[in-house]
Amino acid sequence: MTAGSVLDRQAPCPNCGATLTFKFAGARAQVCKYCKFLVARTDRGLVRVGQVADLVEIPSPLAVGRGGYWERKRFEVEGRIQLDRVGAASAPWQEFFIQLPDSGDGYWIAFAQGRWYWTKEITPAPQLPPMQMLRPGAQIQLPAAGLVTISEVGRRRIVSEEGELPNVPAPGAITPYADFAGPNGVFGTLDYGDGQSIAPSLYVGRQFDPGVFKLDSGAPLEVPKAEVKEASCPTCGGSLPLVAPGTTERIVCRYCGTISDLRQGGLAALGQAPKPPIQPFIPLGAEGTLRGRKVIMIGFVMRGTFVEGEHYGWREYLLYAGPSDGYIWLMEEDDRWQLVVPVPTGEIQMAGSFATLAGKTYNFKQSVQAQVEYVVGELYWKVEIGETVQATEFQGPDGILSVERDANEVNTSFCHPLTAQEIGQAFNIAPPPSPGLFAAEPGSSSSERRGCSPVLVIVLIVVAIILLILIADCDGGGSSGGGSGIYIGPGIGGK
Ligand SMILES: [Zn+2]
Ligand SMILES: [Zn+2]
Repeated sequence: MTAGSVLDRQAPCPNCGATLTFKFAGARAQVCKYCKFLVARTDRGLVRVGQVADLVEIPSPLAVGRGGYWERKRFEVEGRIQLDRVGAASAPWQEFFIQLPDSGDGYWIAFAQGRWYWTKEITPAPQLPPMQMLRPGAQIQLPAAGLVTISEVGRRRIVSEEGELPNVPAPGAITPYADFAGPNGVFGTLDYGDGQSIAPSLYVGRQFDPGVFKLDSGAPLEVPKAEVKEASCPTCGGSLPLVAPGTTERIVCRYCGTISDLRQGGLAALGQAPKPPIQPFIPLGAEGTLRGRKVIMIGFVMRGTFVEGEHYGWREYLLYAGPSDGYIWLMEEDDRWQLVVPVPTGEIQMAGSFATLAGKTYNFKQSVQAQVEYVVGELYWKVEIGETVQATEFQGPDGILSVERDANEVNTSFCHPLTAQEIGQAFNIAPPPSPGLFAAEPGSSSSERRGCSPVLVIVLIVVAIILLILIADCDGGGSSGGGSGIYIGPGIGGK
């Protein structure tokens, strides 16, 4: 890749004739601003590749044409690419291609679930491990990255793109890929290419603190503030506050249970979710400060599992902690609370019956098929009633290491015990029941999942009252047979 003169980098668009200028010497392609064709730079001059679809609106402080400083090094945003996952529930995401004019180096910058990542293509491309070796959770050795853990495997598709790009991502091209994570924030992608314009490549980088970037506008690298916006439920018209519009994928109406996808211009209804049989202790929309983080309660998920035919359930609260801290979970089981904080998969080493994190050892506790049974609120993934993951826990002196895995992905987190008083204080609510008050033995084992919590008692009383009313109603001649109206709509409850 020779720098060449500006003249070498200027030529008419082979599709519409407009003048295309390549600012970035290493660019291999450009999307023509005028006709929206991807144009490749080849030895034989500029070549049309294909028409690019409209860009999806994904808010970001970065934009093609903007620049700034990355730890005092000048950078310019040259291009942007938008991708989605094929055959998996996911909204598109985007990556920006930035160039450092002083060194000519190019980097990709991505923002996902509250975290920023940079990656750089390793050149020349090393031989990639065979795709079939890669399972979520598998550990492999990679050049420039070391020992890493595969965090996600799948196929991704080019949705749209703009500006100048260091490769030739043909519109609509699909490539198998695997994301990986390693110790100290190492992150990267194995891209297996599409067999045509996209060659197999290894991208290695890190999670980074957005504070090291300064934009020319003087603004820090921050995703636009999560203002509380409103959306209307397409079924009941109820007003649903949107706390994290940039990352929310699915909304379950708190009033009528309609499941909707968040699309441009509003919500698209998919079906109905059964209403959770209990009210969350922390109400949807409650704001609080939990262990120094400002959070807002945006989602409530009830999950459960069957062990030898016996049902065990627990409750999970999704908290949004703002654009830089992202999402945190609270989990409650038998009135015992845990603060669940994501841990990069690459930080955890698993070896059969134990796992290690930051030099500490955690022992295998249990592994169950955890299923989503009820959900309400605003979720950052395309949640479905009935979706399952293999949830494995490792117990240590200071908390539990949690590893959740499905066919495509592995997610790891650390569960810190919390008291009911802390929950009450954090959200300025009456403290939820604590196990000590009701358990026969205050120190009884948490694996003892039985026991009648006060919530369960209330639910049973409410169910009994409803049954009595229903029976009375039937005696009175019955209604028109409308039923309870609970069903799982199309597109929900199966992949
Ligand atoms: Zn053109
Ligand atoms: Zn509704």
